[in-house]
Amino acid sequence: MQERPIDNNYLDFINRLSDSLQSHGLTTAYIRTYGCQLNLSDSEKIKGILQSVGIEPTDNELEADIVVINTCAVRHTAETRVFGHIGRLKDRFTKHKDKLLMIGGCMVQQPHIVKQIAASYPFVGILFSTNNLSALPNLILTRLMTGRMTFDSYPDSYEIDESIPLSREKTYRALIPIMYGCNNYCTYCSVPFVRGPERSRNSRDISREFNLAIEDGFKEIMLLGQNVNSYRNNINDETNNFAELLNELCSNPSDYRVRFMTSHPKDAGIPLFETIGAHHQISRTIHLPLQSGSDNILSAMNRKYTSAKYLERINEARAIIPAVNFTSDIIIGFPGETEADFNATLELVRTVKFYSLFIFIYSKREGTKAALLEDDTPYQVKVRRLMELTEIQNEISLEYDRALIGSEQKAIATNQKDESQTELRLDNNSVITVDGLHRVGDFHIVIPTAIENRRLIGEIKQ
Ligand code: SAH
Ligand code: SF4
Repeated sequence: MQERPIDNNYLDFINRLSDSLQSHGLTTAYIRTYGCQLNLSDSEKIKGILQSVGIEPTDNELEADIVVINTCAVRHTAETRVFGHIGRLKDRFTKHKDKLLMIGGCMVQQPHIVKQIAASYPFVGILFSTNNLSALPNLILTRLMTGRMTFDSYPDSYEIDESIPLSREKTYRALIPIMYGCNNYCTYCSVPFVRGPERSRNSRDISREFNLAIEDGFKEIMLLGQNVNSYRNNINDETNNFAELLNELCSNPSDYRVRFMTSHPKDAGIPLFETIGAHHQISRTIHLPLQSGSDNILSAMNRKYTSAKYLERINEARAIIPAVNFTSDIIIGFPGETEADFNATLELVRTVKFYSLFIFIYSKREGTKAALLEDDTPYQVKVRRLMELTEIQNEISLEYDRALIGSEQKAIATNQKDESQTELRLDNNSVITVDGLHRVGDFHIVIPTAIENRRLIGEIKQ
């Protein structure tokens, strides 16, 4: 195991690291993030750490002295893309040994991937742990001193470090993790293995970050956790569950929008829906991953709800929150999924009418329970099911968008494009394009006027 830095004075250590980076000619870093919002949030910390030692972020990968790849392990396709990316960097980092390539994130939490990178990609400089970002400065210094591939070999402590600096990526949306890890062990999922057990942040730290982000002008706050509904339930603090946390945060009277991801259908319920209903700042679009409409498959996935229970949740929410919308995730071709199972999913999708769906083809993940089952649905069948479901969902999404035409919607300007248009995001997270340049981060009332190529076009209400 590696030694912690001998230097007890952190500032001295950081100064030494800054000097060392400078003398190695390392001044800029490009960070590429794969995967979910939690990974994006980790990348904001990685950027903050690098800035604190004098490294400037750049969008130009080719010119960056340091390249950081923050990886995802949820599906095999994400891993293939990462290996493709690392492969493309081979020539550059083999030739320029003075430059630094760092790989972190969920993928390198898996020992077989670490072995593979160590054996086949010797030009990688550092492999760092996603659960131990505060070790990053020490790993960088070790690499600079030894010139060898450096691993984070501390055991994951799973302690939450509130002192890590942060540099936000977006100017309108602040990502705020409220918890880390997951205890649910859905049988297909690698997250509990790579992210470790559930642990919640202190509500005081969350409140402070939330209020500061609003003070700093962020109009959208996204609260993050693998299952936000288990916030604090696991650490025996009766006074703080997710609904109460939302109540506390929304006592800030400014103008902003709150979203959260992800809510597990087994835990989301009336207290949460009542809280959403009571605060106009909380988005009326709830992401509630269904995964499958078949009870057999749901049980094999260890999701701990049935299709009837799921539907009951939806109906409860609709009774409590007027105009609530749902989005969801579906996995196609989980081991043993029959045509009847798939049809049950189609039926539930038609009944619920989600605003939009993320549809994934099942990907076998080493170490999970489902990996012991035979991945028995032929790939062509999976693709056919995916297309069938996509088509049905597209119709439903289009119906929702058509119903918006002529209505007044609150939206946040998120992107200026082509020097003459602005993209804004509605409450349901859909993008709407309007003419004219409007400042990113401002709220506007927009009126959708048409749908072109499945995208909303509109105008700003004057
Ligand atoms: N904690 C979140 C999910 C994180 S992963 C939740 O419970 O909803 C995001 C989505 O990826 C999941 O909802 C699931 O639909 C999908 N996913 C996870 N593991 C997968 C796998 N092995 N194959 C295909 N899709 C997967
Ligand atoms: Fe994975 Fe299930 Fe945890 Fe979501 S709740 S991260 S799908 S194990």
